[in-house]
Amino acid sequence: MKQLVVISGKGGTGKTVITAAFASLAQNKVMADCDVDAADLHILLEPKILEKHQFTGGKTAVINNEKCNQCGNCIKVCRFDAISLNPQSTIHNPQSVSIDSISCEGCGVCFHICPKMAIKMEDNLSGEWFISETKYGPFVHAKLGIAEENSGKLVTAVRQNAKLIAEKENRDLIIIDGPPGIGCPVISSITGADYVLIVTEPTLSGIHDMVRVIELAQHFRVRICVVINKYDLNIEMTKKIENYCKISKISVMEKIIYDSVVTESVVNKKTIIEYSNGKVARQIKNVWEAIQNELN
Ligand code: SF4
Ligand code: SF4
Repeated sequence: MKQLVVISGKGGTGKTVITAAFASLAQNKVMADCDVDAADLHILLEPKILEKHQFTGGKTAVINNEKCNQCGNCIKVCRFDAISLNPQSTIHNPQSVSIDSISCEGCGVCFHICPKMAIKMEDNLSGEWFISETKYGPFVHAKLGIAEENSGKLVTAVRQNAKLIAEKENRDLIIIDGPPGIGCPVISSITGADYVLIVTEPTLSGIHDMVRVIELAQHFRVRICVVINKYDLNIEMTKKIENYCKISKISVMEKIIYDSVVTESVVNKKTIIEYSNGKVARQIKNVWEAIQNELN
């Protein structure tokens, strides 16, 4: 079973449109949306959720003031200034220690140092992940809670479950919509993958972000290729991307034209393959054929 990841240096390059198009072209696969911070592949795949699971990533310290004797040890050791002694101090309203759950990084030092065992570490509910059925087969996706930072771990959970389904159902490919950027979620998306397709666009930031993501993929020794989306919007920049790829011995698999039919297809919640028979759809079909050759 092979794993193909579609990524881009930044959001808005058309990565999800291309991934969704692959969903309608590929046979016998599992789809996975690892762009957990801004998941939107579900808009085009219209999943029917079969299973919903809570995701707990990290811990938060919680205090039991009935056990606490306000010794202040935890306040001294917390490097994140998450613990404080409440100012009010009267007989009827004694001092109490409180932990700010937003500032707490879950390091657990206070838990270990407390002589009264007044602190416990509780699981954070950071998001949810789902197993769904779509007209294109199984789909694993997720939703990260607002302001949650454990997206790398959630990406790993999505990938692991997509792999379990692929193994159980004898599916020979996992197609992953990866996150943008070069952070922890991208690393979680590409490690152990067989092939990475990088979608870029012909802008200065497009080139810059593409170079960073290529360097990242090369570091993890994953095979890569590039697709330049909306290439005709800036021919000069497209040439610069092609030159960079040529020097770096990276294949530019296709230069896809700009066409407003792509936006129309998204508005109508259809993949571009379902919605149109035009040039963009044909170009993406070419990319898909080339990738199949690479994977086989
Ligand atoms: S778990 Fe760490 S960060 Fe959180 S309150 Fe305790 S010492 Fe501070
Ligand atoms: S270390 Fe324990 S007993 Fe001391 S102030 Fe913190 S919670 Fe209370």
